[in-house]
Amino acid sequence: MKEKFYITTAIDYVNAEPHIGHAFEKILTDTIARWHRLQGKEVFFLTGVDENAQKNVQAAEAAGLPTKKFINQNTQSFINLCKILNIGYDKFIRTTAKEHTEVVEEVIQKIIDNGDIYKGEYEGEYCVGCESFKTERDLIDGKCPEHNRIPEHRKESAYFFKLGKYQKKLIKFAENYITPKEKKNEITSRLKEPLNDLCISRAGAEWGIDFPGDKNFKVYVWVDALINYLSGAKERWPADVHVIGKGINWFHSVIWPALLMSAKIELPKKLLVHGYINLAGQKMSKSLGNVINPIILTEKYGADTVRYALLRCSVLEDSDFSEQILIERHNNELANKLGNLVSRTSALAEKYGTERTTNTLIKKLKLKEIEKYFEEFKTDKALNEIFAFIDICNEFIQSKKPWETHDKKILYQLVYSIKEIARLLFPFIPESAEKISQVFKSDKIKKAPILFEKIDIPKQNLNKSEEPKEIMEGVTTINFDDFEKIDLRVAEIQKVEEIPKADKLYKLILNDGEDGRTICAGIKEFYSSKELKGKKIIIVANLKPRKLRGIESKGMLLAASNKDHTKVSLISPDQDIEVGSIVG
Ligand SMILES: [Zn+2]
Repeated sequence: MKEKFYITTAIDYVNAEPHIGHAFEKILTDTIARWHRLQGKEVFFLTGVDENAQKNVQAAEAAGLPTKKFINQNTQSFINLCKILNIGYDKFIRTTAKEHTEVVEEVIQKIIDNGDIYKGEYEGEYCVGCESFKTERDLIDGKCPEHNRIPEHRKESAYFFKLGKYQKKLIKFAENYITPKEKKNEITSRLKEPLNDLCISRAGAEWGIDFPGDKNFKVYVWVDALINYLSGAKERWPADVHVIGKGINWFHSVIWPALLMSAKIELPKKLLVHGYINLAGQKMSKSLGNVINPIILTEKYGADTVRYALLRCSVLEDSDFSEQILIERHNNELANKLGNLVSRTSALAEKYGTERTTNTLIKKLKLKEIEKYFEEFKTDKALNEIFAFIDICNEFIQSKKPWETHDKKILYQLVYSIKEIARLLFPFIPESAEKISQVFKSDKIKKAPILFEKIDIPKQNLNKSEEPKEIMEGVTTINFDDFEKIDLRVAEIQKVEEIPKADKLYKLILNDGEDGRTICAGIKEFYSSKELKGKKIIIVANLKPRKLRGIESKGMLLAASNKDHTKVSLISPDQDIEVGSIVG
């Protein structure tokens, strides 16, 4: 019987389109899964989405869409992301699925039966972003550091789980469970302080899974979400490794094992806590707004380039990332190092052939180290080691000059080494590795097609004496031509109408030189209709119309908003100017 290996990513909220951090976690997990498949194991790779979270509901409301429809759209984007990046999952779980709901009910029922759930009252500060109550120590300047926002005060009657009962067992369990050590220490040091019982129900919510035996409550979304690892795997449980970001370490290191301990279910074996991908030094997150869309990036550069550029980021530490970094890694490493080695060797082997000999070159490959890194989930280190060997091969070809000597034995050593490189690179860049394997498979080697075209950094259409600055501070810049496509105009708000049931949106009727343009704008919390009427503002006039709450909205208005979206200010011309005036 084959050895089993069960690996998971975290499941993602679908309150927004996927960002590069989601892509990183999925690529990392996929790489580990592919490695274990290469070892002959029967791998099960689970990923998916958390559809029951309250913030999905809020995001749907802000977008003016029914929750189900909004969630379906965004879930599809996460599936598309996996597809375009060649994420070879075995199952994609959605927490609104019946098969999941049933397992959640079963597990909670077991915990109730074991006497670990009781009813009480909860009062505290709740971060909607995290979907959890926050204690004083979780907050920085009164704000949730993950979401940069002030939590809401909430008081409600609730069901509690006796988390505190498992404190000692959890400390012991953490020891061999959490990787890396620093992340384990964070948990064990927090576990030295008294552990409060956990509120595991939510009152008055319409969205989510009913609390077993009490329909006035929904199951706390984190309890629901964590159980996906069980419901998605069925008899394949327990997991060999959960791959997660550091922001949700506590949930996976304390709450999850405690629930399992109480329900008397086997515990997962390892938790890999990876670092964040930073843009311009700040954590990448949709709610903070600085996003490189990974789907667009992959459409532009291809799956293997995006995979490679992200897999070169540190697994355990935070890493900086930008389109510029991606281009550099593609050009300098994939094209110049790997691509050149493959192309030169295949061309020479086609011309002069190969002859079997003792391979001294391959002995320089540190295979044992690479295997060790994989076992420790340090895929970045494994990749560095493989590329160190690619450098050695390039130096070998440079010093042996087979184009002069026509030495078939030298070429044999190179061909054999490249085959091994392709095998080792398969978990990282599967498509390209497969192509390389194909080239060197037969005895009659033919010159390889170009694997990695160099990416030209596009020249900007600005002042020619200026250095082209494609990327500033990790933010992708656009061409002047792209900017010119945006039709910005001065418009006057003529009428402000309420939209039934919408607490954020106004329907605005504008004059932009012509009467009667309709725009729906989410500014109701920030402006009264009186303040808006007669105001001159700037609009994007050529945006594709879209329907919000059944109203066709044509364009959008320009407004500044602070980071946590508690302040919004409309942009207005500071002197009187005719409506319809062009802005630019
Ligand atoms: Zn938060």
